[in-house]
Amino acid sequence: MRAIIKDKETVVVRDIEQPRVQSADDVVICVKIAGLCRTDVFMADGLIQGKDTVILGHEFAGIVAEAGADANGLTAGERVTVMPVMPCGQCGFCNAGAKDSCQNTTMLGIHHDGAFAEYIRVPANTVYRLPDNLSFTQGAYSEPVAAALSVMKAGISPQQRGFIYGSNRFAQLILRIMQSYGFNNVVIHDPQAEKLEDNLYDFAIETLATTQAMEEIFRAVRPRGTVVIRSRKHEPVGIVFDVAVKKELTLQAVNYGPFDEAIALMADGRIKVDDLLGSVYALEEFSAVFAASKKGESSKVFFKPESGPCAE
Ligand SMILES: [Zn+2]
Ligand SMILES: [Zn+2]
Repeated sequence: MRAIIKDKETVVVRDIEQPRVQSADDVVICVKIAGLCRTDVFMADGLIQGKDTVILGHEFAGIVAEAGADANGLTAGERVTVMPVMPCGQCGFCNAGAKDSCQNTTMLGIHHDGAFAEYIRVPANTVYRLPDNLSFTQGAYSEPVAAALSVMKAGISPQQRGFIYGSNRFAQLILRIMQSYGFNNVVIHDPQAEKLEDNLYDFAIETLATTQAMEEIFRAVRPRGTVVIRSRKHEPVGIVFDVAVKKELTLQAVNYGPFDEAIALMADGRIKVDDLLGSVYALEEFSAVFAASKKGESSKVFFKPESGPCAE
């Protein structure tokens, strides 16, 4: 099968052996479509530590091609998507049923072969059935929706006034999710376009952390307000503790919301995402697509394998 592979220092499209079910809880999915994420680009550039040789990609939807005997009842032909971040299943948190707190998680496209390929093998407990009214492309967008949905864990409430820092697609997605939960007093703040009033907002949600952004956020949030940390910045960001302490701010970082709720938000029509979803490319076009995605990202781009049973 064809796959986009990070092979040590380089990224290539290559033919490799198709994965098969190995253990009873394995599911092999033929990939209909897979979204490109910043994580993939960071991985391609060697900014994320992962497997030396690995198929990239983690946001996808497809059709079950083969399922093991103990695969949660999944059978060939079912339309599915997958939560790409996997708890270890062995640590104290996992054993206590707090899988969200697992600190030994692994991820498709980093630690395990990913979805920019004709087929992918995953454990059955990561697989979610797609409702009939969701397209494969919408299904492939479940992971970003689950990531944006995490802001609902931040202890903020709908009657509060807040802003989302950063004018980008992810901010747009967060806004729509918040509105669907009754937050009608939230705006997107484009730092290029305007200045925020000091001490006015009950909460802020950052989507791109820089020292300057955090300074602006701290200034605009009221005393005892909440700053929700959502971006996954790898490098350190400077924050002035003095301001945070004087204001008695709460800094609340959030990771993922429930994956099934993310799927339901789209399936029930509580959020619309189609205008956030962009062009579809062949695996072979990866280098131009990766390069373009570094320049800006008004809409999500996707890869679709051009061969294999899911290609049509
Ligand atoms: Zn992603
Ligand atoms: Zn664990």
